[in-house]
Amino acid sequence: MTDVYLNGIFMNADQARISPMDRGFLFADGVYEVIPAFNGVLFRLNEHLLRLQRSLGALQIPNPHAADAWQALCKEMIGRNGGGNISVYLQVTRGAPDKRDHGFPVPAVPPTVFMATSPVAPSAISNSATAPGAAAIVAEDIRWARCDIKAVALLPNILLRQQAIAAGAVEAILIRDGLVTEGSSTNVFVVKDGRIATPPCTPRILAGVTRELVVELCRNHELPLVEREVTKEQLYDADEIWVTSSSKDALPIVTLDARPVGNGRPGALWKTLARRFLELKRAACSIA
Ligand code: PMP
Repeated sequence: MTDVYLNGIFMNADQARISPMDRGFLFADGVYEVIPAFNGVLFRLNEHLLRLQRSLGALQIPNPHAADAWQALCKEMIGRNGGGNISVYLQVTRGAPDKRDHGFPVPAVPPTVFMATSPVAPSAISNSATAPGAAAIVAEDIRWARCDIKAVALLPNILLRQQAIAAGAVEAILIRDGLVTEGSSTNVFVVKDGRIATPPCTPRILAGVTRELVVELCRNHELPLVEREVTKEQLYDADEIWVTSSSKDALPIVTLDARPVGNGRPGALWKTLARRFLELKRAACSIA
């Protein structure tokens, strides 16, 4: 049994109780983060906490903790749950007033804070020479107009991911108005003729912490990258496609709608990027 954190108390997961009046339960009125730790060391914590602050700000929910208190809570969660390669899920909702009403509660009630952990499986970058790559499908982006907020309202993402699973794929790459936005839980990069492109950060996508890291790695290692719109046609025509997230790092997509991407194997630029990514992660998390 794992330990979770709920409103100031660490406890066994089966002891945790949340009110049915919680606005997270009734309205999905809350935000979340998933922060990975490798070798027990939190990776890109500050970036996740900054995004948490932006998401809370967009919902006008006061941040219940300062950054150092969040850090201490995350560390405690990792320690209590065995350390190693593990991710911390944290969720903040607008709390549990006694009346169900769309308007924000007056007076405000304390936000509900929940944290849990789960193991992180090794990603494709851990073994870039032999990584097989993964399958994706293309789907219409059926989400709302504020995908930059990391809201717990994930119903469209769930339906899209299930559509991918039903097709034997791991991810759905989403199209809005003929343009690639992102994956159902990842950001998207394409490579054509040795050049890398990723859609710009707008309210149509989540500003992924891993997306930003990959952009940084490309800049630092002179891999040619531009942040620009990518059309559906350019996606189908790409030599390489990568999807990025805190749990997948950078995953090469080798089939799209069951057709090979490029030569159907992880591409040369992905392999270069994967080596750089792994170096950075090892150094940041003191992995030998
Ligand atoms: N887009 C969406 C819709 C996501 O849910 C995620 C995962 N949280 C990402 C992108 C990737 O973000 P990150 O790299 O910060 O995990």
